[in-house]
Amino acid sequence: MEERPVTLADLKELNAPVRAHCDNCQKTAYVSTEGMPEHTIIIHIARRLRCSRCGSTKIVTRPCYQHMVPQHPGEQNR
Ligand SMILES: [Zn+2]
Repeated sequence: MEERPVTLADLKELNAPVRAHCDNCQKTAYVSTEGMPEHTIIIHIARRLRCSRCGSTKIVTRPCYQHMVPQHPGEQNR
């Protein structure tokens, strides 16, 4: 089986947003994917992003599956 990168079309189906994470200052934010083509690969979106807090381009984007909320003990919303 071939592993296919996740695209916006996949997320649309699941109604899941895209989340960006700054590697430099650890800021996370939801990405507006409006206007992007459906075949856009989620992890590639990061290449055109810049952190709004520190200006870094070391961004990681990944799908945020609401029904698969990761539980990180020790990671709290501050
Ligand atoms: Zn940053």
